[in-house]
Amino acid sequence: MSAPIRSRTPDRLCAEAVDLALAAAEDVAGPGRVGGHLGVQVEGDRVVTHFFACREDAYQGWRWAVTVARAPRAKLVTVDETVLVPGPDSLLAPSWVPWEDRLRPGDLGVGDLLPTKEDDERLEPGYTDVDPEDAEEPVGFGPGAVAQQLGLGRPRVLSPLGLDLAADRWEEHFGVRTAMAQAAPAHCVSCGFLVKIGGPLGQAFGVCANEYAPADGHMVSLGFGCGGHSEAAVMPAVPPMSAPVVDDYEIEPVRVHPEAGSVDDAEPGEELGHS
Ligand code: SF4
Repeated sequence: MSAPIRSRTPDRLCAEAVDLALAAAEDVAGPGRVGGHLGVQVEGDRVVTHFFACREDAYQGWRWAVTVARAPRAKLVTVDETVLVPGPDSLLAPSWVPWEDRLRPGDLGVGDLLPTKEDDERLEPGYTDVDPEDAEEPVGFGPGAVAQQLGLGRPRVLSPLGLDLAADRWEEHFGVRTAMAQAAPAHCVSCGFLVKIGGPLGQAFGVCANEYAPADGHMVSLGFGCGGHSEAAVMPAVPPMSAPVVDDYEIEPVRVHPEAGSVDDAEPGEELGHS
């Protein structure tokens, strides 16, 4: 633990050691790479840090910090350390964010593994008091099979919080307050394309199975709806054919375009000449 600083006034000899600090900075940065003196900062009794501008293009706003010190009753000032530190206007990388806070829906790619935390609040212990061999029994036999039928037998299941979060997400995308639902002629609850689901969420949600609907394959609120509702707009029946207007059983000769000089062209009683 460092000793408390008795004075905030910089030690005179240490504060005057600007050339010593500049030489130390140039020793690290290279000649001509260190800019003007920016000031001093008291670090402790007889310990002072000198700041110099950094001339590296990649480190805009950074400063060379050279800490100098001297022993009690000694006049010799020595260099303690030389480092490049960011200034108030430095361009810095964003703070590191843990991956579990960075992860967004859709980030999981093919072959990726997404570990679930031991204490994930979306999950709670499931019914696990099942002998693994019982769980393999055919459906309808033994406690394991009953647990499987009920969807139990899993180490963890959705907690009330997990259920709530899922319901909120689904409601946001395909819920009763969406513009699509507001403009829909009827709701999913009465649509023939709705596939019902079990469990507590089945009271409020189902899966849309209309390939032409925007929610096809998604969980939809029973209050959602769209123009593809199975009963909202039934296609009109084809009108019956009208009776034929042509009578094919009586032949009615019609003169259309008689050729000039043909028999049809001759007036009644007129004889045609021979060439
Ligand atoms: S077709 Fe439309 S109304 Fe029917 S279940 Fe799908 S989203 Fe709901």
